[in-house]
Amino acid sequence: MLDFSDMSVIDVHCHPYPRKNKLSADEWVDEVSFGGGSAEYLQAGGIEVDAAAMAMLQRVKRDTLYFRYMLRRLAEYFQVEATVDAVVDARNRAIAEQGYAAYAHGLHQAGGITALIVDDGHPLPQVDLKNFRAQVGVDVVPIFRIEVLIQQLLDADCGWAEFQRDYDDGIASALSEGGYKGLKSIIAYRTGLDIDPRSRSADQGMVALEQIRRARGRGGDAVKQLRDHLFCRAIERCIDYGAPFQVHTGMGDWEVHLEACRPALLMELLRYPAYRACKILLVHTGYPYHAEAGYLANVLPNIWCDLSEGLPFAGNAAARIIAEVLEMVPISRVCYGSDTYGSPEPFYSSALLGKQALAQALRILIDDGFMSRAQAYDAAKLILADNARQLYGI
Ligand SMILES: [Zn+2]
Repeated sequence: MLDFSDMSVIDVHCHPYPRKNKLSADEWVDEVSFGGGSAEYLQAGGIEVDAAAMAMLQRVKRDTLYFRYMLRRLAEYFQVEATVDAVVDARNRAIAEQGYAAYAHGLHQAGGITALIVDDGHPLPQVDLKNFRAQVGVDVVPIFRIEVLIQQLLDADCGWAEFQRDYDDGIASALSEGGYKGLKSIIAYRTGLDIDPRSRSADQGMVALEQIRRARGRGGDAVKQLRDHLFCRAIERCIDYGAPFQVHTGMGDWEVHLEACRPALLMELLRYPAYRACKILLVHTGYPYHAEAGYLANVLPNIWCDLSEGLPFAGNAAARIIAEVLEMVPISRVCYGSDTYGSPEPFYSSALLGKQALAQALRILIDDGFMSRAQAYDAAKLILADNARQLYGI
């Protein structure tokens, strides 16, 4: 038996959330479930949302193994029955009795979580990080999502000279006085990961923005040209500041560009000589295309991968995914992450699942002669916290 339950955890990819002291059972399910399946989604498709439709949405969310695992761990934590009503009732009562910060801190402590590296580009409007820090009681390290800035600049209707100056200044101030420890891009959600590294030419940005302005927002290819240029520009700023760049790869919520999110599409870009100094973290290790991300992290020296999304949202696949990630990704390049949001509870159950799945995966590696027991404990320490600590200098 390997037991990592006492080890500390740094969650390298997750999201801040507004404080909600009291939630109904349905509201809580909506907050902590994997992204998608809302009444608005159905309404936008012209589907009438009646009581039966709402019940169907709830049923689908509660029927995932991810959800059931979380519910059972929380029932143990609160010592109540493993039903949504009992768990949500216990949660609301604990917050009312202890106060939100003490409650959240207690859950994080029970999971061993010492720091959250958060992408505050979701949800929007952005959560105030000072409040968030005070309400969770653990170290909060923010990451700056470039698409939030890009959208603001597109909305500002300015010309290229102003656009490129404000873009560079926005990133520079985030990484210096803004306290952000790195950048993040969700270009996989927008125009895809097939980014030509030569998009770094400022002329590409200038021409693309000009076309977008002329077409009054219907820029077509120009939108991709502009986003690709700004992505390359962000890589260069990361190199200047020695800051890691998180790049979304693989699945995400229902809006993701699923065909254009494969890590293999990044190969040309990542091995481009001018970008080799940039530390890139392939978010989600590209799950379900984690073999592709694993290959990149193996043959290119400045690539990290995190376990988020597959863990915890693919539920019972956690140990298998970790084993598959370790097929190619060096142990010193794998970081724990959850991509959780909404409320403190999934952060806790995800940490438990991560430790349990890691123990299962490493146990097999010991049995098969790949490592000693002592090396398995060292590997767990690196994956759960130390790799992230080193990458982000925290
Ligand atoms: Zn995320």
